[in-house]
Parts: sequence; C-alpha cells; structure tokens
Amino acid sequence: MGEFDLIETYFRWDNDSDPTGDKNGVVTGIGDDAAVLQLEPNQQLVTSIDTLISGVHFPENTPAEAVGHKALAVNLSDLAAMGAKAKWFTLALTLPGTDHAWLKAFSSGLKKLANETSVSLVGGDTTRGPLAISIQVMGTVENNLSLLRSGAKPDDKIFVTGTPGDAAVGLASIQGDLASEGVEFASEDKAICEARLNYPTPRLEESEVIKQYATSCIDVSDGLLQDLGHILKKSQVSAVINPSEFPLSDSLKKLPKDKAIQYALNGGDDYELLFTVPSYKCEAFMQAVSEKLTTHITMIGEVISQPKSEKQEIGVILDPNGMNLRGNGYNHFNDDIRDENSRD
Ligand code: ADP
Ligand code: MG
Repeated sequence: MGEFDLIETYFRWDNDSDPTGDKNGVVTGIGDDAAVLQLEPNQQLVTSIDTLISGVHFPENTPAEAVGHKALAVNLSDLAAMGAKAKWFTLALTLPGTDHAWLKAFSSGLKKLANETSVSLVGGDTTRGPLAISIQVMGTVENNLSLLRSGAKPDDKIFVTGTPGDAAVGLASIQGDLASEGVEFASEDKAICEARLNYPTPRLEESEVIKQYATSCIDVSDGLLQDLGHILKKSQVSAVINPSEFPLSDSLKKLPKDKAIQYALNGGDDYELLFTVPSYKCEAFMQAVSEKLTTHITMIGEVISQPKSEKQEIGVILDPNGMNLRGNGYNHFNDDIRDENSRD
C-alpha cells in the first residue's frame, strides 16, 4: 500500500465524522496541497503542537488505540488550557512500516476522540522512520479572551479539575515501580490508573465554564507543582497549597497517604486543568460548576504576593505551615517523580 492509499484508508473520515454536515469551517481538507479553514469574525486562531515518541512519551507496548487517543488528547488539553474551542488538527505520522493492525487501531482511537470533541482532521504528512506522532491542533477564541498563565493575582483561589496523580501511578504500575517499592495495589486500581495514563480526558467542556471566571490557567502535564510554578512565575506571585486536603482518587486513597500525595503533586501526564479564580467570583463559579459539569473540581490553595521575608524567589509554593513544597529541605515532596516525568 502506498502513502496515498494509506491516508485514504485510515485518515480520511470527513464523510462520516461530520454528521451535522456543517463541515466545521473546513473549506478544503485532506487531499490538496494545504487545508483552507474558515474563521468566524472576531475570533482568534489558537494553535499548539505536541509530538509523542515511542519509548519516550509512551511505553513501547502501549496499545495503538491508546496512542491515537493520547496523541490528540494532549493537544486538545493545551487548547482547553487556553480557553479555546477546538476545531481542527493536522497529523504528521512517522511509521517504521505499514502495520495494518496497528494503523487500524491507532486511527480508530484517534477518530473516536476526534468525533467526541467535534474536531476535524484536515491534513498531515506521512513518512517512514522510528514511530513518532506529531499533532498540531487549531482552535478559536473570541478576540483577546484567551486564558493565559500570566493573569493570577494575590488572593485568587487555586483550583484543579479531577484527581491528579492517577496517571503517574498508572505509569509506575506499568513499569513495575509500585511492585519494586513493595506497594500493594489491587489489579482493578492498577487498571483504573493505567487507563488515566493511556486515555487522558481533555477538559474542553470544563474549559468553557472555567474561562468565564478564571484569571489564569495551565494544563498539568509535568506535575502539579511544576505547572503551578509556571503560572506563578508568569504572574509574578507565589502560592500556599495544602497537600493534606488534596483531591485523591479512590484508587490513590488506597496507597500510603504520603506516597499518594507525592504522586498527586509531582506526577506527570494528568492533563487536568489548574487555574485561578478571584475570591469574589468563587461562589458563582462553584454554582456554575455544579449546574453544568460532573467533573470533580477542588480548591487547593490560594495565590499570595511575594513573601516579603528572606530572599525568596518568585513562584514559591508554601504549605500552610510555611514550608516550601519545592524546597530541598522537605523530603516528603522531593522532585524525583517530577524529574523522571519531565520529558518535553
Ligand atoms: P505534499 O506532497 O504536498 O506534501 P502529501 O503527499 O504529503 O502532499 O499529502 C497529500 C494530502 O494528504 C495532503 O492534503 C496532506 O495534508 C494529506 N496527508 C498526508 N499525510 C496525512 C496524514 N497522516 N493524515 C492526514 N492527512 C494527511
Ligand atoms: Mg507532505
């Protein structure tokens, strides 16, 4: 099978992926030299690209369907973090050969998530080489309403969606680290955490609600502390968060608490949204959440201005006792997991 047949067979779904028939603003999709996409008036284009390399961003034995899902999900997560509506994506695929079983499963994982989130595959590139998948997503946002990392203000509350740490426990489970650390974990909990690793949920619906209240937002891909650090540095503020009140999944609650919290704070690959909301808007925000969303959203702390004492840098993250959670002196929450998982 040549390159063109391969694209036709596995990646040309415009007929069945667009049940509404409105074409999602795709003027010209796959098959010409480039895609032509229609923007609405007063909208800005928001775009991002992420590459997944086999053995680096996912274990080599990851099911192809999960690879297809995850390659798109991590990109959609970036659009959610910007408060953008996801619309289109392109796919650059580097394949070691034509493995039809792999391609079929990959394309079905990709297509399923594309359909669920109403995004259209509008083009790409197909080459031969070690397995790597690059997806570029494009979305739209009303002029100047994108949600940046830089808007957090002192007294804003800090929130997170879902239960961070699950994906990192899933990875530890797959890599045998839980077993080697002597941690007992039921096979159903392993399966739940591995599913969070392989099938992350891009928080697009949540983003539509969050963007109406939040001052800043990021998606948690490299660990909550590290990603919160990015918001704080860009916003020139610090934060207090309380790890003992952290949202843990039922599965993580079965781990020793210290270990579970360490995964939740430092583990990567969750693709949850971490964001700040001004205090005076929190009540209305939580009301909107309870009316419109089923996802767990938890307040985990608050933004403070720079600690005036000492020579502390911007972006310090303190616990309620004033301990620096990212400092060397606090071994419970050291950076081991975060460094292992930081691959971009
Ligand atoms: P060109 O020679 O102009 O680079 P290609 O042969 O690479 O064109 O691609 C032909 C068409 O197929 C283009 O519309 C391109 O966007 C699309 N395409 C190529 N690879 C993929 C892919 N993996 N997924 C989706 N569309 C693809
Ligand atoms: Mg090309």
